[in-house]
Amino acid sequence: MRHFVIVGSGPAGFYTAEALEKAYGDQARIDILDRYPVPYGLIRFGVAPDHQSLKAVSKRYDKVAESAGVDFIGNVTVGQDISVAELLELYDAVILATGAPHDRKLGIPGEDLPGVVGSAEFVGWYNGHPEFADLDPFLEGTHAIVVGAGNVALDCARILSKTRHEFEGSDIVGHALDALDHSAIRTITILGRRGPHQIAMTPKELGELGHLEAAVPVVEPADFPPVEADEPLEPGLRKSVALLRGFADLSQDKPKRMVFDFFAKPLRVEGDGKVERIIVERTELDEKGSARGTGETYEVPASLVITAIGYSTSPIPDVPFEGGKFVNESGRIADRLYAVGWARRGPSGTIGTNRPDGYEVAEQIAAALPAGSSGDREGASGLKRLLESRGVMPTDYNDWRKIEETEVSRARPGSPREKFVRHQDWLQVLGR
Ligand SMILES: Cc1cc2nc3c(=O)[nH]c(=O)nc-3n(C[C@H](O)[C@H](O)[C@H](O)COP(=O)(O)OP(=O)(O)OC[C@H]3O[C@@H](n4cnc5c(N)ncnc54)[C@H](O)[C@@H]3O)c2cc1C
Repeated sequence: MRHFVIVGSGPAGFYTAEALEKAYGDQARIDILDRYPVPYGLIRFGVAPDHQSLKAVSKRYDKVAESAGVDFIGNVTVGQDISVAELLELYDAVILATGAPHDRKLGIPGEDLPGVVGSAEFVGWYNGHPEFADLDPFLEGTHAIVVGAGNVALDCARILSKTRHEFEGSDIVGHALDALDHSAIRTITILGRRGPHQIAMTPKELGELGHLEAAVPVVEPADFPPVEADEPLEPGLRKSVALLRGFADLSQDKPKRMVFDFFAKPLRVEGDGKVERIIVERTELDEKGSARGTGETYEVPASLVITAIGYSTSPIPDVPFEGGKFVNESGRIADRLYAVGWARRGPSGTIGTNRPDGYEVAEQIAAALPAGSSGDREGASGLKRLLESRGVMPTDYNDWRKIEETEVSRARPGSPREKFVRHQDWLQVLGR
């Protein structure tokens, strides 16, 4: 019997578990650890609450968690409750699937002013992440800026634009729904450093913007190259650009505007004790397609700024780390130590991108460690003994189901659940 431990129960962790199970059959025991008693990482805490069909992918992970060879062990933070070196003593291989939970900074003056928040914080706030339940983003002003040209920026802008009615069927947490319902924000400016051809926004997410109840997307036709220039684009991007171009024809008779401001590089955030504006430099594309400042500057008013320009992984003691992720070669960090998902490759791709990633690493593990005996390695029994000696109380998959059932039973009408937003509430449901 082999013993494997995966640190992190997001998509990458679950796809890797699925792949290891397929590779080893009943010859392996696989433990999936998470710092929270609730699994699935960004499926719960990142993916937008009004995109429920995407969240349904967790049903596939449920099946993995329920299978005989796999155990979910929650409420354990690796690097704090137990070290990677200790896990390597207990298991044949350790796979880090810890994601990339920290916002990248803009690196410009004024970004620490009150009213500037990272997308991980803002998204965590409306998705019930315990670290961000108290964020209380400033929604009393009329102008918001979202910095970034990807789908996360679109998520943030769309959530700021929707009416209460449009959140029906979502699992947005009650505190965010109430605050957004009273929001005074009327203009949401999306700042992109480059142009429409350089966006990382997908057609489905852009398409939704044309059908919002109270908000209309606004583009400046002069930002677009001639339409023939769209021809060589990859089909998905071509569709996204076509959707963006189409926004120019929409009637502007809705109370909220979502303004796409392309070729706009934030230079500094300004305000008297809180954010009031961003000073922006107009850019153009250089020969390599990068943004080059033109020297022309202007200001965009802002009572709230959300930065959505990427994420980095949390370092874990004794694991080599560089450029916001673990140093690895095709997922291998060191002997018997691997990384998958965002912890391996950084914050890119869709949920599905993590599948081949996890399968590839599982193949490497199977090649390096054929089915056989683990020798003295104890796996979960040793882990639990060690945790108990440190006063750490792990949770299991049945505990998660209990939390989930309680959340479903608390749901307001039209919502699939009302999430608990504090760690102690999860433990209270479990009687701990
Ligand atoms: C705001 C946002 C919206 C997104 N929307 C979409 C979308 O609509 N469609 C789509 O396809 N993709 C979307 N994505 C991308 C998708 O969520 C990621 O591709 C995917 O979640 C990455 O998986 P992961 O397992 O690497 O990381 P994560 O999902 O982040 O999982 C990491 C897990 O590790 C745990 N963990 C971290 N550190 C430790 C530790 N030290 N000890 C124990 N456990 C730990 C965390 O609690 C977490 O459960 C979105 C991403 C974001 C940020």
